[in-house]
Parts: sequence; C-alpha cells; structure tokens
Amino acid sequence: MREDGLRSVELVTDRLETPSLDDRTYRVVRLPNQLEALLVHDPQTDKASAAMDVNVGSFSDEDDMPGMAHAVEHLLFMGTKKYPVENAYHQYLSAHSGTSNAYTASTSTNYHFEVSAKPSNDEEPSGTNPSPLLGALDRFAQFFVEPLFLANTLDRELRAVDSENKKNLQADQWRLHQLEKSLSNPKHPFCHFSTGNLETLKTLPEARGINVRDKFIEFYEKHYSANRMKLCVLGREPLDVLEAWVLEYFSEIKNKDLAPNRWPDAFPFPQTDLGVQCFAKPVMDSRELNLIFPFLDEDLLYETQPSRYLSHLIGHEGPGSIMAYIKSKGWANGLTSGAWPVCAGTPGVFDFQIRLTEEGLKEYKEVVKVFFHYVALLQETEPQEWIFEEQRGMADVDFRFRQKTQSLRFATKISAEMQKPLPREWLLSGRSRLRKFDAKLIKQGLACLRPDNFRMTIVSRDVPGKWEKKEKWYGTEYTVEPIPADFLEDIKKAASSPATSHIPGLHLPHKNQFIPTKLEVEKKEVKEPALAPRIVRNDRLVRTWYKKDDTFWVPKANLIVSCKSPIIYASAGNSVKARLFTDLVRDALEEYSYDAELAGLQYSVSLDSRGLFIEVSGYNDKLAVLLEQVLITMRDLNVREDRFAIIKERLSRGYRNWELQPPWQQIGDYTGWLTAEHDHVVEELEAELPGVTPEGVRVFREELLSQMHMEVYVHGNLYKEDALKLTDMVESTLKPRILPKEQWPIRRSLIFPPGSNYIWKKTLKDEANVNHCIEYWLYVGDKSDRLIRAKTLLLDQITHEPCFDQLRTKEQLGYIVYSGVRASSTTYGFRFIIQSEKTAPYLETRIELFLETLAKTIEAMNDTDFENNKRSLIVKRLEKPKYLDQETGRHWNQIHSEYYDFESAQRDVALIKPLTKADMVEFFNHYIHPSSPHRAKLAVYFEAQAKSDVSTKQISELVKTLDLDSDASVQAATDLQAKLSAAGQDEGKEVEVLNDYLLHSLKVPENKIETAVEAWKKLHAESGDAEGVVKDASPPSSNGTTPAIIDDVRNFKAGLTVSAGARPVKDLSEYEELDAKL
Ligand SMILES: [Zn+2]
Repeated sequence: MREDGLRSVELVTDRLETPSLDDRTYRVVRLPNQLEALLVHDPQTDKASAAMDVNVGSFSDEDDMPGMAHAVEHLLFMGTKKYPVENAYHQYLSAHSGTSNAYTASTSTNYHFEVSAKPSNDEEPSGTNPSPLLGALDRFAQFFVEPLFLANTLDRELRAVDSENKKNLQADQWRLHQLEKSLSNPKHPFCHFSTGNLETLKTLPEARGINVRDKFIEFYEKHYSANRMKLCVLGREPLDVLEAWVLEYFSEIKNKDLAPNRWPDAFPFPQTDLGVQCFAKPVMDSRELNLIFPFLDEDLLYETQPSRYLSHLIGHEGPGSIMAYIKSKGWANGLTSGAWPVCAGTPGVFDFQIRLTEEGLKEYKEVVKVFFHYVALLQETEPQEWIFEEQRGMADVDFRFRQKTQSLRFATKISAEMQKPLPREWLLSGRSRLRKFDAKLIKQGLACLRPDNFRMTIVSRDVPGKWEKKEKWYGTEYTVEPIPADFLEDIKKAASSPATSHIPGLHLPHKNQFIPTKLEVEKKEVKEPALAPRIVRNDRLVRTWYKKDDTFWVPKANLIVSCKSPIIYASAGNSVKARLFTDLVRDALEEYSYDAELAGLQYSVSLDSRGLFIEVSGYNDKLAVLLEQVLITMRDLNVREDRFAIIKERLSRGYRNWELQPPWQQIGDYTGWLTAEHDHVVEELEAELPGVTPEGVRVFREELLSQMHMEVYVHGNLYKEDALKLTDMVESTLKPRILPKEQWPIRRSLIFPPGSNYIWKKTLKDEANVNHCIEYWLYVGDKSDRLIRAKTLLLDQITHEPCFDQLRTKEQLGYIVYSGVRASSTTYGFRFIIQSEKTAPYLETRIELFLETLAKTIEAMNDTDFENNKRSLIVKRLEKPKYLDQETGRHWNQIHSEYYDFESAQRDVALIKPLTKADMVEFFNHYIHPSSPHRAKLAVYFEAQAKSDVSTKQISELVKTLDLDSDASVQAATDLQAKLSAAGQDEGKEVEVLNDYLLHSLKVPENKIETAVEAWKKLHAESGDAEGVVKDASPPSSNGTTPAIIDDVRNFKAGLTVSAGARPVKDLSEYEELDAKL
C-alpha cells in the first residue's frame, strides 16, 4: 500500500510476463475506488496514451431503445463540469499532436486518446516538468467523474450516430452480422441492434413522451462505476509519476460496487433454433457458406484454449486439409475458422466460413459433408500432442519477438483485455501463449461440432427459392427454414462415417518444415540508427539496397523485389493480364505456402505502379526457401484452364464489388486518374477482362518476365552477403534480359495551371446507396519543391481540427469528413473528402465557406497557437518507426518513388521551423483561398441514385401519425422509406404505395390511413425547402472563373502539360558500398 494522505493505492503486480525485447516497464494498481489501472513507462515513445474500458455496452441497451450505450459514448465527450466547453478535450489534444476515439462493443465501451509524450521544452518529462499527458488525463478523467451531456449537443450527436448507421447500411459485414443477431434468441442480448439510429434514439422514444437526454444520463448513472472500469496509461514519465496522476484524477470516479456484467440465463442459439438453414442476400456479389456451432465458454481456459487446436486443423490449407480438398474440386476461394466469445456467462461460438466459387455454391451440400467427414476423422484420432507442441512453439516465438505496438493501439487493446479474468501477470501474454495440452478439453470442444448443434447460412445473390423476409435494421433479404431431412441424414452419415469410408485425401497435416530454428540476432550497438540503406549492387540488370537492422533486433527480415517493366501499364488490357498472372501465382502457391504462413513467413506477388512486386517477410531463417519457391512458381506456372476460369470469375466479381464500396473509398481512384498522365480506372479494366484467355496470359507472362530492370531491398537480420545471394537467386531463377535504362518507365502527373476550375461527375453504381460524395482537390505544386511541401503539411496540421469541428460536428454533413495532403507521383495538393446525403455541389459550397472562415482563423491565430501547430507537426514528422516493417515501408516508399529522399522528414522539419504566420497567410491566399485567381481546383462529384434524407425526416413525421408500437414503427419506417423513395418523387405514385402498404401489409384502420395520406401530402409539398438539401445548386465560383465540366477525359488531359518525372535528390553513388569488382 502506498499512502497519499488518506488515500492509498494497492499494488496488484509489477511482474508482468513481457516479450524479450520489451523496454517498457509495467505496474498494475488498484485505486481505493476499485478502479484497476495498468501503468506503462516507455522511455522511447513519441506518443503518450490512455484508454478507459468500461464494462458496459450494447448488451445492456433497453429493449425499446437500441443504441443507448453507443449514444452515451457519443455524448460523454460533450462537456464536463470542470471543462464545460464541448470540444475542450479535442482542442487540447489537437494542440499537442493528439487524437482520440471511442467505440462501443457488446459488453464494453472503450475511450482512448494519444498525445505528444514530451513537454514543449523537449526535455524528458517528470513530475515537475510534465508532458501534455497530464492535461489530457485531467480532461479525460472528468468524463467519468462529472459529464454534462450538454443538452444543446444532443440532437447533433444523435444525428452523428444516425449518420454512422447510414454509413454501415450497405456494408455486408454489418448486414450479415446483424442478421445473425436478429435471428438469435430474443431473450439473450446478443440479438440487440447495437448502433442505433435517430428513430430508435430520439423520434420513437420522444413520441412515447420520453426525455431521451434523461434516459442517457440514467443509463450512465446505472452502469458506469469505478469498479467496472479498466484504465491503461502509457507515457515517458516514471511509473511513480504516472501513479500519482492516476490517483489524483481518477480517484474521484464514483464506485457503485456494481456486479460485473454477466448473462448466464439464456443462450443466443438455444437447441430449438439449431438445425436451420438461412439464405441471405448480400449487397456485394459474394458467395459464402457459414456454419456456426454453440461452443465452450473459453473465458477461463486461457492456458489450454482448445479452440485453437481445432481451428488450426479445420482451418488448415495445406495438403490433406478441408481447404485443399474442396479447392481441388474447384469449390472454394478461401476459408476461415475459429471460436469467438459472446459475453461473460455465455458459451462462445465456433465459426466455419468458406468463400465459395460458382461451382461451390451449386455443391454447397457436398462442402458441408466434407466438413463433417473431417470432423469424423478428428474424432477417431486422439488429440495429437506434437501438433499442440508445434502451435505452442510458434506462439512462444511470436510472443518472445513481438515488437512494440503503437502506443494508442496498445492502450486501447490492453484496457479491453483487462476485463478478462486473466492473472494480472499474464495481461500481455495471456491469450497469445499456449501453456497446457489438455486432450480432454479438446475432445469436449470437438464434441460441440455435431450435426444436431449448428446453424448454416448461405450468402449469395442468387439462391434456390425466393427471399421471404427482410431483416429489421439493415433490410437484408433472407429466408430461414429447417435443414431438409434428407440433407440432414447425409450430414449425420458423414459425421459418423468410419475410417474406411472417409474421403480419400483428407488427413492430418505433416510436420511443418518452416518453423524457424535459428533465432539468433547479432546485436551491434550503434550511436544513431542509419537513416538510409546502402546500395550493395548496381548494374544494368539490378540495383540492390540493403540495411542491416540497427534498431529492433528481431530475427526477422523483409525482402522486396520490384520488377520494372514498361509493358504492364502500356494498356488496360495488359494491366488485367498482369493482374491475372499474379492472382494465378498466388493461387498455385496456396497449399505450399500455408505452412510458411503458420510459421510467421509471408509473401506477396502483386503489381505496383512500376511493375511486378514480390515481397517475402518474416523470420529470416527460412526466408530463402520460400523466396525460391515463389520465383520458380512465377517462372514455371502452368496456367490451367479450370483455375483460370475460377480466378477470372473472382476478379470480375472483385471489379463489380469494388464499385459497390462506400463512395469515399472509391473516389480517390478517380482523382488519381484525373491527375495522372497514365492511369486506368476500374471501368477500363472491367471492360478488358472478358477478352482475356489463358493463352493470352501465358504469352504475356513470357514477355513480362523476359526483360526488366529490378530494384531489390533487403532489410533486417541478414548480412550483406545474404542480400547479394538473394539477389542472385532472383536473377538466376527468372533470367531476364536487361531493360536498357533509357526504357525505364517515367511516371508523370498533370500540372493544373492557375485559375483551373474543373468538375468531373460520376453516378454511383450502387442503386441503393444514399450517400453522395465529393473530393475537392487543390493543386499546389511540384513534389520536389520542399518549401511547398512544408507549407502544405503545415496547412494540413492547422486545418484538421477546425475542418472536423465545423463540417462534421457542427454541420453534420456526414460521418466521413476528411481533409489532408494528397500527393500524386510527382505533384502535391490539398484535398477534402465528404460523404453525405447532401449533394456534391452543396458540399462544395460548404467547403468554400469553411475555407473563407479558415483564412480568418489563420490570420487571427496568436503566436502560441501557431507555434503549437508547428511543434505538433514537427513531432509527427520526426516520429520514429515502431517496428521493422514500418521502417522497411518508409525506405521502400523512397526507393519506389524514385526520389530516394531518405532524409525527407529531417529536411521538411528544417523548413517548417522558420515558417511564419505571414508565410502561411500568403500561401493560403495564393493557393487555397476560394477568391484567389491563382488557385487551381478539381472537384470530383459522386452522385447517389437513391434518395433518403428528405424522407428520413418525413418518414418520422408520417410514422408518428400511425400510433404504432416501437418495433412496428421501425419496421414501417424502413419499409416506407424504401417504397416511397422508389416512387421517384411522384406524388400520385407515393400515395398509391402508401395506401397499399398501410392497408395490406400493416393492416391499419381506414380512418388512420386517411390521416396518414393527408399528412404525407403536406410533407411532400414541404420537401422542396427541406433543410440543407440542394437539388441542382450550381457550384460556387468566387474567383471569377467558370467551372469546366470534364466530359471528355482524353481531351481534358490533352489540354494540360505534364510534370517532370521523379529524380534522385542525391547522386545515388553516395549510397554505394560496392565490393571491388574482380
Ligand atoms: Zn459512434
């Protein structure tokens, strides 16, 4: 016990099991109010962080108000008694290079932030010279001490929740997960709709006379208690300082001695709900088979984790596995399996998922039978200790050499982990390591995988039969029914088949040859880690870069080979052939490489913007073995007709599904296309695909591999000789001819002259998506102009917080609001992306208005704020890489870009430091300000086909007139929104569908129908001037230019000049460290 006046901190433990390279120190303490905290001292970290995990989530929502826990999460940030200004916390973080976030899960709500780890004088922090972490903890703690739930922020935050839900409406992972939940036992909270929306959190409760703000406060009072909270604080300060701060700020949190949340009384999938098959229609063109089995509660089985043994075998992809067999039949594209926990007190679920081919969908019953044949095979073989030992060995190696996770991620993850019943000494290692082989438990787990103990879901856009129902929250169409008796008979037969009648070819895996045995690292202390790699070979065929790791000391390495070739991007057709080639190589390697993957060794064969890209990474011991097999497969690939057909179909679906993604994820590709000299968008690739034949790919492969220039990077626990040997292996296996330097491709971007004002429009493919999107991009200048870079980076830093605050928090334009730098291959620009139910021209007016205000903000900014922004940016730029892959990635970006600017961060900082406010005002007024005649703009508009926002508001009003109970109103609102939107604003049609629906589907009495129809007519008439909806607004132009709509992209590009290509910032010979030629 430590005494601090009357209060005292209990030391729980400071002996945590840690990875061997971990230089952090840890201490677990408990405050007098029973709050448990993990304190972490990290002498190296750039960012300090904290996370609070509260043991309450959507499972605790009241039945008639789904989304409560989530709404409370949003509202908690809105002012506290001590810091009543609603964005005080965000402002503070933003001024100190910080960010924050929160999430609501089923049984926990997690709040977290990160902030600069050093004080502004750049000295090591201490109790008397604290880092900004102190101020952040003070503000953060108040959320749990005395939040205000400011009334004037309520509507806005609920709209933010609503918009978050709308963002997810078309996302299959949300839709399908909710379908599983909605079809589960209504007596278990697993069935809850967790996000909530405006209907469930405001419109409907208010219609019932409920004051929703009171309700949220009540929820907070009822469930938030110090003894349900787990805190993690990580900083550069010594543990004693951190402990004192935690005690000072978090002791005030009230302890209500609430019991931990547990749900032992009901099962999500009771016996009566098993033995069913569900067919569900996805938004994306995907095909999936999913089996779920009620499983063991593994919460206390962290030493044995029987599900890991089972999923290792069932999910195996090597020879003898389920996957190898069904893939050989042409039925499957991928497989995953594993167990997940539902909540405390409830058994977990074992999940088996297969991505099916077209043929596989037809044969789904056979696939299920194969699964049960394999289970039968496992049942008659005793659990094998050697398999467990292999798993345990790899888990130990992985834990031993685990590299530091970034501070915010670490705090967030570990605070959630602290809710688990783990011995505190094992907080870091608990579920990563396996400790005991327990054959009995494995058998118990296996016994759950029975024909009478599962549910099956088939996800596909075309299924046998028709869609009978619609899921309430997301509108997913589905049919659910008992598994037909004859099919179930077949399954039972498979599950009880004797050894003699097993499917030939199914067997347990062999010993894994890839498990690393040499794990030595030669650690040579260096004063300062080197910023750049060296060139160890440089001739007309290949240039090899190499850096021996001098920072992380893990037995790992990364090897990248980039094969530059002018032919891949010469046409869209070639790009498609190259893509198919890489897909086929990976397909052919799947069985072979699975063991390597299990042993922590990955590879990739894909395309980058200059040609073919090969990467092998992981434990360096067996790296060369995998590389050789990858290269041989590339060289000798037999393009089989059957595999080609499957891969081609998958790619074709991939293209179509790409266009169904959320608009904000697509829009950048179009901006990239419109600003690059040569690029292809998905429509062009999609058009080429049908004409590509196996023979076409064979011929193309020959041509592609026959001539190229290669650039290689070897980084990690390898010697220079290894780097040269690996390079030799690439050369001698692929044996390409030299591609003369004069023919190496040069990438160039388009230059937008001052006064440019372009708009390009596209209609969204997804007919059901209600979100418009804009990318608003301003051209700034050449990427190699360092001063331009420095100013754009600082602009980004200054804009970030006010942009989010104005456009997202205050105006609620949409959930996705983003501002930032956008670089092309050779140019620099600044952009905004907003995804919204409001139209793109309207969004553009809001962005321009924001920029006008921002001009004033910058001009009025005081020196302290300006300097703080600079400091924040500098800290960000100088952030050190946290793990080997990150450093490899940074170096590779420089090599790949062909600027070879390994010191870019240091050079940027040197130019950011002297920048004055006057410099920024001048820069802003020239390149960014909407009224500047010099600025050059390109706006990309995505137009949604579906409309919704008008209707959401109208629908709520309409539904109110019907006096339905909460469930029925939500259903009615969902249905009516879809039906009325489909009527295309035609009042006659609207009234017709409304009448029909109320009369036949909802069976509402006649007099009520009349009232509703009258109400609707009135709402329809009012819709014209609905708030914030601009139908055909013309985009603004305040600098005297007229926007030019791009309708002929070729013509548009032909009208612009192109930039210079990238050139090394230093003579490359400065990096050379070549051996004398013999
Ligand atoms: Zn949220």
